[in-house]
Amino acid sequence: MMQKVFPIRSAQAPAPAFDGRALVDMLGRGLRDLRISVTDRCNFRCVYCMPREVFDHDFKFVAHAEVLSFEEIARMARILAGLGVKKVRLTGGEPLVRRDLHRLVALLAEIPGLDLTLTTNGSLLPKQAAALARAGLKRVTVSLDSLDDATFRALNDADFPVSKVIEGIEAAAAAGMAPIKINMVVKRGVNDGHVLPMAERWRGSGHIVRFIEYMDVGSTNGWRMDEVVPSAEIVKMIGDRHPLESADPNYTGEVAERWRYADGAGEIGVISSVTQAFCRTCNRLRLSAEGSLYTCLFAQHGHPLKHLLRTGASDEAIANEIAAVWRARGDRYSELRTAETAKQHKIEMSYIGG
Ligand code: SAM
Repeated sequence: MMQKVFPIRSAQAPAPAFDGRALVDMLGRGLRDLRISVTDRCNFRCVYCMPREVFDHDFKFVAHAEVLSFEEIARMARILAGLGVKKVRLTGGEPLVRRDLHRLVALLAEIPGLDLTLTTNGSLLPKQAAALARAGLKRVTVSLDSLDDATFRALNDADFPVSKVIEGIEAAAAAGMAPIKINMVVKRGVNDGHVLPMAERWRGSGHIVRFIEYMDVGSTNGWRMDEVVPSAEIVKMIGDRHPLESADPNYTGEVAERWRYADGAGEIGVISSVTQAFCRTCNRLRLSAEGSLYTCLFAQHGHPLKHLLRTGASDEAIANEIAAVWRARGDRYSELRTAETAKQHKIEMSYIGG
């Protein structure tokens, strides 16, 4: 069978022109980071993200024909790089369940000046890390919510063991993607007792554990404020045992707050999206697997662009459309969050890209 060839411009081609005015949103925030959800599917059913009773056999995932091709994603990324995007994170769903993801990495790695990374549950890294690294992936973030096997298997609800994720982390490091960032979502009464063992497991390894406050993303996880463990509590828990000092952000708008071990054994990060909202510096845009833009992780609706990609619109026209979306952006959900807003219908994180 003949392979389908997609007519795309070279990734090295000059960025498309748009109307040239500085691109800032209604709150004066620039555009820097792009999260691309390459699929809304996942091989885990983490109870706080894709609860099995909702994401079951009857759940309607995005149809394959509606999912952007790698060439369409790369085109969007190149247009967005022309609008100021400096960093791209591939996510999902689980990005590594998308077949031949390394091909997309290779296309994105050609775009000059883009910092490219990926967030994964790590389950498929042992098989894919080397190919991803060869394709140009330099960094990776792996999610791991506990080192206790029973707790982890219950949280991912796919009976997946801790040891395989650790294998994935080691495979990524061996492929040259160290230091690895390791994300742990902390939920009170579930894994808050596992914070210190997690910190200590990776202390001195060069890898960086980042503790994430449990969030009211989507509408299916039944979030409650009393299940959030504030980052300040996590910093104290670890700092009481291994003194920590605050470190400067690597760049304005960095999501994680950095803390360094005073004895030089590396650093940790905390992501306090609930207790210390960072909307003021939020420079992130999300592209869903089916080609819609979302200007906030807690968005209730998106801005579809796939029709432009599939009806021959020019790069300039698409760039202008994206610029209009960004200029109209006024989101600051985390600053406005209440128990009531948490109940609002929001797009699921697995769809929008975590
Ligand atoms: N499947 C990949 C993974 O597991 O990393 C990428 C997608 S996942 C949605 C991205 C990150 O979002 C993971 O670290 C996950 O733990 C986190 N996450 C999902 N639901 C969350 C919630 N309700 N609160 C905080 N973090 C959440």
